[in-house]
Amino acid sequence: MEQLMRSLLLSMAQNRAANRWAKRYGLRLGAQKFVAGETIEDAVATVRALNQQGIKVTLDHLGEFVNDEAEANESADYCIRTLEAIHEAGVDSSLSLKMTQMGLDISRDLCMKNMRRILDVAKQYDLLVTIDMEDYAHCQITLDILDELRQDYDNVGTVIQSYLYRSLEDVLRLGGQGVHLRIVKGAYKESPEVAFPDKADVDANYLKLMEAQLLSPGFAAIATHDERIIAQAKDFIQKHNIAKDKYEFQMLYGIKTSLQQQLVREGYPLRVYVPYGNDWYGYFMRRLAERPANVAFVLKGMFK
Ligand SMILES: Cc1cc2nc3c(=O)[nH]c(=O)nc-3n(C[C@H](O)[C@H](O)[C@H](O)COP(=O)(O)OP(=O)(O)OC[C@H]3O[C@@H](n4cnc5c(N)ncnc54)[C@H](O)[C@@H]3O)c2cc1C
Repeated sequence: MEQLMRSLLLSMAQNRAANRWAKRYGLRLGAQKFVAGETIEDAVATVRALNQQGIKVTLDHLGEFVNDEAEANESADYCIRTLEAIHEAGVDSSLSLKMTQMGLDISRDLCMKNMRRILDVAKQYDLLVTIDMEDYAHCQITLDILDELRQDYDNVGTVIQSYLYRSLEDVLRLGGQGVHLRIVKGAYKESPEVAFPDKADVDANYLKLMEAQLLSPGFAAIATHDERIIAQAKDFIQKHNIAKDKYEFQMLYGIKTSLQQQLVREGYPLRVYVPYGNDWYGYFMRRLAERPANVAFVLKGMFK
């Protein structure tokens, strides 16, 4: 039943009509639990509040699967404005973005042009940009673009998903080259031809990827809310004496906030992924799919 609900929510995440509705009517259905607001000012205020608690941030101006060149350019402009706002406010935040937001589905060249515009500004301000990993159809091209960008920029990293069979090879190759990698389980609907269908296998592979990246020359962002994995990460870090500038834990805004505070109290480096903007629908549906119990919380909000 839970698997069915997850699959339904992930299909709904790509519904374009619902996405248009969401953009028009603003944060609804309880999305404010996971999204920091619609404006840059909202986002910067959230970053500041988290920084005051000892938490670093990565800001994501929401948007994905863009099919129009003007919209892709506008998304890149927004990313640049976000970098400028981070710099001007003097807050501790990197930037996360998606390739399909930069026009990847329109043309590789357009996406590359937008990425270079963003990375030039990020470089000027000494800020890191992380390329989120989207569905499997975009995985290889995302890594190809990353390889090309890394010839000119060292302030760019990406995400590897433990549900994909291919990922250990990717971590060994990229981590070996010193690439900054965020390790996640994976949030899209994928076929068993490319991804482990069983959660136990996804979790076991997560540990393999995390350990490989922690031992590599690349930075390891351990992005999960899974307490069992976090405990295993702490043991591994201690056993191998891994320095604090070599890794950090990462979690999503609004999820397991008490665990976030606990990690900070224990002295672990933590970064929270803070999304903002009016294109919140797909992101929100993926958060519901991760924990179908969240749907009950949405329904409660609707009937209040
Ligand atoms: C910083 C960060 C960046 C990410 N970037 C990407 C990316 O680029 N590409 C990508 O595919 N995925 C990304 N993800 C999402 C990731 O792939 C998982 O879908 C998500 O993190 C849930 O998996 P989990 O590791 O927390 O483990 P799970 O086993 O799913 O969850 C462990 C526990 O955490 C809690 N939990 C998890 N999710 C939720 C939720 N939505 N609401 C409430 N409680 C929850 C529950 O208590 C659950 O039992 C990112 C995640 C993080 C933390």
